Amino acid sequence: MEKREQLYEGKAKKVFATDSEDLVIVSYKDDATAFNGLKKGTIKGKGVINNQMSNRLMKMLESRGIPTHFVEELSERDTLVRRVSIVPLEVIIRNISAGSFAKRFGVEEGIVFDEPTIEFSYKNDELGDPLMNSYHAIALKLATRERIEEIKRLAFAVNDALREFWASCGITLVDFKLEFGITTDGRLVLADEISPDTCRLWDSVTHEKLDKDRFRRDLGGVEDAYAEVMKRLNEHIGF
Ligand code: UDP
Repeated sequence: MEKREQLYEGKAKKVFATDSEDLVIVSYKDDATAFNGLKKGTIKGKGVINNQMSNRLMKMLESRGIPTHFVEELSERDTLVRRVSIVPLEVIIRNISAGSFAKRFGVEEGIVFDEPTIEFSYKNDELGDPLMNSYHAIALKLATRERIEEIKRLAFAVNDALREFWASCGITLVDFKLEFGITTDGRLVLADEISPDTCRLWDSVTHEKLDKDRFRRDLGGVEDAYAEVMKRLNEHIGF
């Protein structure tokens, strides 16, 4: 499948048309941003790692009955995926307090929850991706109640699968962000990416941060952390 014209350029990926109306090619960049684009930088090799990691995790999720946009890895940075219309909601699942949760509620990071939480934010850069609940999303016609119920069910199923997988790698899945899309034939699928850009991953023993917080918080060792997560994934994924 050949790349045709560029359809879109985001912060971390470009999207290209193909000869098929139903398929697009995503191309992963090394560019990194944080704080709604205020902090910019490069994480060398990140595009390759995020492409390969996201694809392997999506394959694993497919094998557990979770539909995704993944079709075929084309090269180190390029992947063929189903063309979707993105539901403009960032779906965040948390198992442990961190980041904006810790800040909003004035608690420390690292509190292990009895049950995972789910929250939505409205994907809108001008507004800074504001937090919203499912009633707001329905009022704004971002999704129907049925779709939101389906999104919740899939998001918790993704959490169960990812938590178990990362635990086998000696990594604690703290929280993560998912995006969903509707395919040209009307099916809801998991889209975007699953990577250290979109998940908080802590070493299970040392609690060392192995994700984009190293970039956000200038902790150093960003490239090494991404490479370490990829190495452990390759050792444990089993295909
Ligand atoms: N996240 C993301 N993109 C965003 C916002 C959050 O991928 O635009 C991920 C983030 O990496 C973390 C989880 O979602 O794993 C929860 O992020 P949080 O709400 O704590 O926000 P942050 O502290 O990253 O601003």
